[in-house]
Amino acid sequence: MQSNNSVAAAPVDADSTTAWMSQGNCRNYAPAVFFPSDGVGVDRARKICNNDCPVKDQCLEYALEQRIEHGVWGGASERERRRILKRRKLAV
Ligand code: SF4
Repeated sequence: MQSNNSVAAAPVDADSTTAWMSQGNCRNYAPAVFFPSDGVGVDRARKICNNDCPVKDQCLEYALEQRIEHGVWGGASERERRRILKRRKLAV
């Protein structure tokens, strides 16, 4: 799945709240890599994120705050982000 709403496809705007996107490991990959259709694809995307992506924490928080439902962000799959949000809701 190709999407323009992804870290890998994001335009660089140094003043924006998404400037961190230009530093992500994913900048050298096709956006589709981060919108996998199966578990193998999710693992592949996660590996890229978990390979010391310097903006992994910002990426995950952005996806959680924006309630982004699709794709791998901050090393977390859609399901993992739903779990994080649920845990946070329960903790409030
Ligand atoms: S954590 Fe993953 S999706 Fe987010 S910027 Fe880094 S490589 Fe890209």
